[in-house]
Amino acid sequence: MASQRRITVGSVPIGGGAPIAVQTMTKTETANLAATMEQIRAVAAAGADIVRVAVPREQDVEALKTIVAESPIPVIADIHFNHTLALKAIEAGADCVRLNPGNIGGPDKVAEVIALAKQRGTPLRVGVNSGSLPKHLRQLEYENPVEALVTAAIETVQLMEQLDFTNFKVSMKSTSVPNTIASNRLLAERIPYPLHLGITEAGTKWSGSLKSAVGLGTLLADGIGDTIRISLSTFHAEEEVKVAWEVLKALKLRERGPVLIACPTCGRLQFDMDTVVVEVERRLEAYEDPIEVSVLGCAVNGIGEARHADFGITGAKDMGMIYSKGEPLKKVPTEQLVDELFKEIDRYYAAGKTVQRDEGAAAEAREWLAENEDASALTPERIAALEAAAAENDASADAVLESMLEPAGEAAHATVLDESDSPVAGRRFSRG
Ligand code: SF4
Repeated sequence: MASQRRITVGSVPIGGGAPIAVQTMTKTETANLAATMEQIRAVAAAGADIVRVAVPREQDVEALKTIVAESPIPVIADIHFNHTLALKAIEAGADCVRLNPGNIGGPDKVAEVIALAKQRGTPLRVGVNSGSLPKHLRQLEYENPVEALVTAAIETVQLMEQLDFTNFKVSMKSTSVPNTIASNRLLAERIPYPLHLGITEAGTKWSGSLKSAVGLGTLLADGIGDTIRISLSTFHAEEEVKVAWEVLKALKLRERGPVLIACPTCGRLQFDMDTVVVEVERRLEAYEDPIEVSVLGCAVNGIGEARHADFGITGAKDMGMIYSKGEPLKKVPTEQLVDELFKEIDRYYAAGKTVQRDEGAAAEAREWLAENEDASALTPERIAALEAAAAENDASADAVLESMLEPAGEAAHATVLDESDSPVAGRRFSRG
């Protein structure tokens, strides 16, 4: 359920079914051109589609002209309280201006900004924050914070429409994950405009990433949201971009770069997998293709769940193995696993994305795997597979049962439900 309407920020389409756009915000003093441009290049390299810069002072709006001209990605000017700066940001060529109409100085000033945005074709991001709802919604906020947020957002949308302006996206920010989810679900049903998603003041890299992944991931999985920003308390804005991409990749909404799969490890682990995984992840950053690379902590499980991976390693005490698409390629000493893995990946690309196999080395690796695999071991992966198979069987049994119970439509259904002494009826009733 993507938004019905689409806007375009610079060259980036937002909404109307366009790919979810990744954005972040610079953390430098905007007027410090060297530092700001360095951070913009870093976030662009990390995969940001759009960048936002704070414009709280005259010198920032002056710098904005150069930033817009030199930035490799579209630039949004972030304005609060001062409508004159919003006008100047539009004049400076900002690809979009973010403002909250509630804090820009009254309806006349909002109308002035909208008139110029219309004239220049500049889209706006308008929205509301849970911390600054209008006075008339304070009581509602106390009683029902979600409804208060949504009401404030809809009032903002209505104000834009009264000014005959539709070139905007909407954000509704809250520090509460449940409120963000509930309010955006409601808003998505009520307005056709693109939605900007974020959890405001989410926290540190660790807790903020998790809160954002839960909140934004839930909405994105429902098809709600057109652009996302992960807010983290770190000076390194590119970290926000990396987290945003992991959320989108996990939901298979967009592809960018390799996907790393790693087992959680358990008591069967016999080598320093922590270090290996970190090193593999670091080296994969140099690749742009969405190849899947897997790291397994032991060979007990065979290649198992990682059978589909383009490349992978499985380690043991002294020796490990490199494989591709479920087939062993070679066995190597544990300390050379990472280097040899990347040698194989590079050979694959050098050969036009064809896996290079040496049959002698592959046979040796197969033999090693057969010696180390234990098909009877109940590994975490096998337990998960058994549980999944059991759930599938249960679902199939239920489907058969359902089809047996419903041959004559609703009448038959009602009859069974009335037979309260029937074990079948009890089972059906309890499942709702
Ligand atoms: S059994 Fe599974 S989780 Fe444990 S080390 Fe081996 S691959 Fe990793």
